[in-house]
Amino acid sequence: MDEGLKGFLFTALFMTAPSRVFVPSVTEESGGAIGLGVFSSEETAWKVLRRFLRKSHLMALKRSDIVIWDVDQIGEDGMTVLSSMHCRDCPVCKRRTFWVDLDTFSAMCTGQACEAWIEESTHEPGIIDLGWPPMRFLKQTESLEDAISELNEIGAQLEAAGRTPENSITSIPEE
Ligand SMILES: [Zn+2]
Repeated sequence: MDEGLKGFLFTALFMTAPSRVFVPSVTEESGGAIGLGVFSSEETAWKVLRRFLRKSHLMALKRSDIVIWDVDQIGEDGMTVLSSMHCRDCPVCKRRTFWVDLDTFSAMCTGQACEAWIEESTHEPGIIDLGWPPMRFLKQTESLEDAISELNEIGAQLEAAGRTPENSITSIPEE
């Protein structure tokens, strides 16, 4: 390889090598961790994690993490936890697909045809928004606990009507 090309390749590699990487992973109920890859952008790490969590009704998972690692740093100094979520039973569909992030007061069901969600309001700090897309249900509460009670109520109503999120969609008239 001629020196010019070598120099070019070295520069290209040096310049594109990320100084930090984003590492999403999930932990199974049994304690085993599943790494989902190492990515150079936060956006890609989130995309990969979200795509994986869509399958969470098929698995027994208890948490997910995205960790940032600074390259060439020794030990824990090189590590920052960007996000941790815990998997709970969904208040609406009752499947173990409800991902809760206690740091940001947000939660989202990744179960098919449910997608119940909770999020702190971006306009009014301290106010919690929640929703259940299949019924276009939206509401605000003042605490995470109240938000979960609201979703529990939807779950109870569905149960009383003998419906599941899957078939409730077909039973709601189209607008
Ligand atoms: Zn759900």
